[in-house]
Amino acid sequence: MKVHPSLAAPRIDLNSRSIKPKEKMGRNERCWCNSGLKFKNCHLNRASQKKQSPFELEQAMFTELRKGYCAYPASLSSDPCSDTIIKAHTIQKGGGLAAIAESNHVLTVKPLMSDLMKTRGRPQPRKIGVKLASVFPGFCSKHDNALFEPIEGKELNFTKETAFLFSYRAVAYERFAKEAQQRFILCSREADAGMPFQKQAALQQIIQDNLVGIELGMRDVQKWKAQFDEKLLSGPTDQFHFAAVRFDRILPIAACCAFHPEFDCAGQPLQKLEQNRVELDQITLTVTTFGSQTVVVFGWIGNQEGPARSLVNSFLAIEDSRKADALVRLLFIHTDNLFLRPSWWEGLPESSQKVLNDMSRSGTGERERTGEEYANDGLRLVSANSVEQVSR
Ligand SMILES: [Zn+2]
Ligand SMILES: [Zn+2]
Repeated sequence: MKVHPSLAAPRIDLNSRSIKPKEKMGRNERCWCNSGLKFKNCHLNRASQKKQSPFELEQAMFTELRKGYCAYPASLSSDPCSDTIIKAHTIQKGGGLAAIAESNHVLTVKPLMSDLMKTRGRPQPRKIGVKLASVFPGFCSKHDNALFEPIEGKELNFTKETAFLFSYRAVAYERFAKEAQQRFILCSREADAGMPFQKQAALQQIIQDNLVGIELGMRDVQKWKAQFDEKLLSGPTDQFHFAAVRFDRILPIAACCAFHPEFDCAGQPLQKLEQNRVELDQITLTVTTFGSQTVVVFGWIGNQEGPARSLVNSFLAIEDSRKADALVRLLFIHTDNLFLRPSWWEGLPESSQKVLNDMSRSGTGERERTGEEYANDGLRLVSANSVEQVSR
């Protein structure tokens, strides 16, 4: 395989977005924080404003997450939306989530702000009701029903058409999640109310750094969604590729996500993020249940020699009895749209929980992703065998 160009490209300069905080400015000058507002309407009296509580911030985030729309490309087709935007499930409520729920609850690895504060950034997975898990207001009722009907039944055949639908939903979800995250960061600009100047400066710099990352991610996900829309309308025949695996039982996890693979399952580097100048490969990954078996579906649009294909091949090459563990690692490393059976998590040794919790913080400012964690097969997490494997 050719070396991906991002591995050799120079790193982008995050300092291009650094801010120059000034305690004093002209009242009508643009504020130093890049908000675009005049100083008098922005940071002039920030230190004496009323402090925001983390709960208020959390409410702001939930408000952003509730703003829905339909992800179907209705403007490109002759199939208009219905009036109701529903809470669409990224993972079938009756299938994937019900199969791992206990007393109608699963665990989510997506922390609450208040948990983050209480645990100083070391939260444990928390309980969430099945109805609330993995939903997003990302489709109208008509399109949610019509589009995903072929993958909502009791049985699933691995075909390009069904695999495409899993991928389409994952991409729609990722775009929605990124947009909500961006809006949330923009509203956290005022979270420095009541803080002294130095702390305002530090927080605003963190916000700028986050925005750079999110804008890069948004650009990718928009482009990717457009490619998927085109295939949705024209049929996913060429350039959509997938691989799917079926296990002999129900695994204690369910997930739906899209990400840039950085290493393969053996720890070999595939591509590097934050390389502004080069195209990056993305891949979708859905883990759900049909009947009494968990299925795993990878999908991507693009070539057959890139990072997505390499990741999939490295996964398929793992022996049948060790694939489930590799899958769990991959999910903890790459997504927070991941749900766990409570008794499984509680039954893991504390040391394994710690390794997985650390993996779920990788790829943030706090920790870079490493090939070692992709390849760390020292952990025994799930015992299951894969029984069917399709790759096209
Ligand atoms: Zn400002
Ligand atoms: Zn619609």
